[in-house]
Amino acid sequence: MTKQASVQTDNHDSDRAQQRGSEWLATAGLRPTRQRVALASLLVGDGEHRHVTAESLYAAVHDNGERVSLATVYNTLRAFCEVGLMHEITVDGTKSYFDTNTHDHPHFFWEDSGTLTDAPSEELEIVRIPKAPDGAEIASVDVVIRLRRK
Ligand SMILES: [Zn+2]
Repeated sequence: MTKQASVQTDNHDSDRAQQRGSEWLATAGLRPTRQRVALASLLVGDGEHRHVTAESLYAAVHDNGERVSLATVYNTLRAFCEVGLMHEITVDGTKSYFDTNTHDHPHFFWEDSGTLTDAPSEELEIVRIPKAPDGAEIASVDVVIRLRRK
């Protein structure tokens, strides 16, 4: 199950979330700076996977009273991707979503709300894909299924 980044209010939950966030950073050898821990605890603090945009995470971290610029949030998300903690999914070639679930899986993109959620992997079957052109290899295949409400 995935949820949008939500605000941690309870102190006990908050300590636990920060601990989870620090441990998550440690798995990638990242130093647990205060800003990184603040962002990490929002991303993985409750043990659930999340899809965020830099903007949605920025809003969530501000609700928690942390002073972090949008550029820092964006750069931190990029750094989390570089060390393999997160996976970036681009929709429309411009909008970036960041996923804490780094295993290959398809996504639903909800056109009305602009949100990204996981689609069931077991129902996806890719039979054949075009060969990469000469001099290139396929780095990854992102499956984004766009949804429109009926
Ligand atoms: Zn996902």
